[in-house]
Amino acid sequence: MHCDLLKGKVALVTGGSKGIGKGMAQSLGRFGCNTVIVSRNLDEVQQVADEIKGFGVTSLACAADVTKKSQVQNVVDQVLNKFGRVDILVSNAGMNVRKPLLDLEENEWDKVINTNLKGVFLVGQAVGAVMVKQKSGKIINIASVAGIKGRPSLGAYCSSKGAVIQLTKVMALEWVDANVQVNAIAPSYIETPMTKDFISKKRDVILNRVPMRRLGTERDIDGALLLLSSHYSDFMTGQTIFVDGGSTAS
Ligand code: NDP
Repeated sequence: MHCDLLKGKVALVTGGSKGIGKGMAQSLGRFGCNTVIVSRNLDEVQQVADEIKGFGVTSLACAADVTKKSQVQNVVDQVLNKFGRVDILVSNAGMNVRKPLLDLEENEWDKVINTNLKGVFLVGQAVGAVMVKQKSGKIINIASVAGIKGRPSLGAYCSSKGAVIQLTKVMALEWVDANVQVNAIAPSYIETPMTKDFISKKRDVILNRVPMRRLGTERDIDGALLLLSSHYSDFMTGQTIFVDGGSTAS
């Protein structure tokens, strides 16, 4: 999909080195955004940033752990230094530990909640402060179908994603007067480094839950991404769009 709707905007994508985040960073570059890619591995984000330059936009690779406030602030400082503003934030960095609750270690619970929830808070807070000041911005938090569906062995993950849907509403309400719209995208299964092992073992079980009987792809996210990043969503805030082949319809 090619589109000039976002030409010249500055977008920041956390977890942009692989999987869904990489797909969204590439799409934002293709849509004309100057794009900042963040993950903990500088070599990997640099590689995505270099690819995105091929779309004729400027890109920036930043290494940071989204669970560390000082590292998050350092990214925002680098972005302001280079671009002077942030128009679009995609808070996508996430992880999962798949274990029954009775076996889940405290540190595993903390890791999932810290990455998927505290990370969205810290990055949203640091970028939100910039957007409130500039009186414009679009924030897109990446939730999941698991944010509203209970799933065995996903106790921490489901809890974190349900909380992301709620946090999205609160961010939306607190920043509504500053012309900052905050929404979420909740995908169903997409094959990525996070999910490939589980999908290879349980493909049929997963597909049985999807009325369209297929996995999602990174490209399936583009429509919601473009809507929520652009002026076409200016009267939308606090919403979660499910991109799930009908999974949550029943
Ligand atoms: P991947 O594991 O493929 O990618 C995760 C990305 O997040 C990587 O770039 C990783 O880089 C980064 N990341 C992880 N932890 C941190 C951290 N503490 N600080 C900074 N970056 C971090 O996952 P997916 O692409 O599958 O998932 C992306 C998002 O989409 C997640 O929020 C996930 O919960 C959600 N989602 C995924 C679905 C799926 O089926 N794949 C379905 C629904 C939602 P690095 O480890 O190098 O830091």
